[in-house]
Amino acid sequence: MRVAIVGAGLAGLTTAVELAPEHDVTVYERRDEVGGRVRSTDSDGYVFDRGFQVLFTAYPEARRYLDYDALDLRDYSPGARIASDDGLSTLADPLRAPRDAVASLLSNDATFADKLRVLRLRTTLSRRSRDELFGGEDETVREYLRDRGFSSHFIERFAEPFYGGITLDRSLETSSSVFEFTFSCLSRGRTVVPAQGMGAITHQLADDARDAGARFVTGTRVEEVTAKGDAVGVESGGSEEYDTAVVATDPQTAERLTGVPTPDGGRGCTTAYYVLDEPLDVGMKLVLNADRRDGEPSHIAPVSEIAPEHAPQGTPMVSATWLGTRDDTGALDEGMSAALGRWGFDTEAERVHVDTIGFAQFDQPPGFRASLPSNEAPEGNVLLAGDYTEDSSINGAMLSGRRAAEAVGSSE
Ligand SMILES: Cc1cc2nc3c(=O)[nH]c(=O)nc-3n(C[C@H](O)[C@H](O)[C@H](O)COP(=O)(O)OP(=O)(O)OC[C@H]3O[C@@H](n4cnc5c(N)ncnc54)[C@H](O)[C@@H]3O)c2cc1C
Repeated sequence: MRVAIVGAGLAGLTTAVELAPEHDVTVYERRDEVGGRVRSTDSDGYVFDRGFQVLFTAYPEARRYLDYDALDLRDYSPGARIASDDGLSTLADPLRAPRDAVASLLSNDATFADKLRVLRLRTTLSRRSRDELFGGEDETVREYLRDRGFSSHFIERFAEPFYGGITLDRSLETSSSVFEFTFSCLSRGRTVVPAQGMGAITHQLADDARDAGARFVTGTRVEEVTAKGDAVGVESGGSEEYDTAVVATDPQTAERLTGVPTPDGGRGCTTAYYVLDEPLDVGMKLVLNADRRDGEPSHIAPVSEIAPEHAPQGTPMVSATWLGTRDDTGALDEGMSAALGRWGFDTEAERVHVDTIGFAQFDQPPGFRASLPSNEAPEGNVLLAGDYTEDSSINGAMLSGRRAAEAVGSSE
């Protein structure tokens, strides 16, 4: 069967990996490079991931498709450093980061009861499958934590900046099923980045698809996908006919190409990379801005501590992430230096790179899954793949790609 895949993000690449061994697969990508939202830039000895991104090794689809050894993974320590006017404290899961257990138990950022609730949640959620976690009752993350008795101190100082960083939503209005799935993956596995950057993930999938025979047509935007009886026409300057087309673009483009409604709200962020005079003494943990002031970043990642390969040898580099898009780079620098000063760090920070990302994730309010399109929603031999058929994550995109491939297989 001749199959066209439109879009070489995680979803399209996963579809390609599945179908290329059996079918004649062509992948169209509008950019000159593959990867979609999971890309990295290499420049003068630096590796800049496009925004703050991490891989949870417990993601079931990542385990299924990725060769972790070849990705040469670098680990974040579990938990986080909580930064505020009071200085820095540590919040860790004592079972997973025993070295931090004492600091964590002494930390004022959570009550003793909060710490027990975290451990209990961990035990309960780590036994459940993804389908169970996404199939249960849904409410906002804030309601979920309050209903389970977490203190407002814990919610404000840990949950808002931590889960706000993951879902790009510090208001905690996101679906609790996303929280549960993320929490269970955090508990079950490692939080990592590949030594060569997050882009190595999508490059590995593209290499696998290519090795299995897929053809990549990059720098080519598909303008139209038209179901024509048993065939599908794909317009991209020229016109080609295929037996099936899988539209694996971002949700907005998928809606334009297929007419199928997709989620319309989205969240963006701005990530700037800074070289410092001296490394921050925060270990391998994310630094959360617990009492964020206007203009300050939401969190800071000690990039070169985690993955020394991401900066020239001996160069301390961190990333700082603001929620939403910000174009004024001078204001970013001011916010960064204000935050570092407030937390007691005596270091200069020189910005070496910035990414402003308008669309990183689609909105996932409680109950969001009920209105997502299915892979088979378009007419004729056209299918959808993309995080927006599952959930806005690496796992959701790969799962959607697999399901689209299964639908192609079952249509033969
Ligand atoms: C800054 C940031 C941080 C994130 N952090 C995390 C994280 O820590 N953990 C996590 O699990 N998830 C994270 N995510 C979410 C995750 O990266 C996405 O859910 C996932 O990558 C979406 O993959 P996709 O294949 O569905 O879509 P995309 O990656 O958007 O791929 C769509 C592809 O289609 C191409 N395309 C679009 N239109 C056309 C056209 N007309 N013709 C040809 N090609 C076209 C695009 O160029 C793109 O390559 C993050 C995302 C961002 C941006």
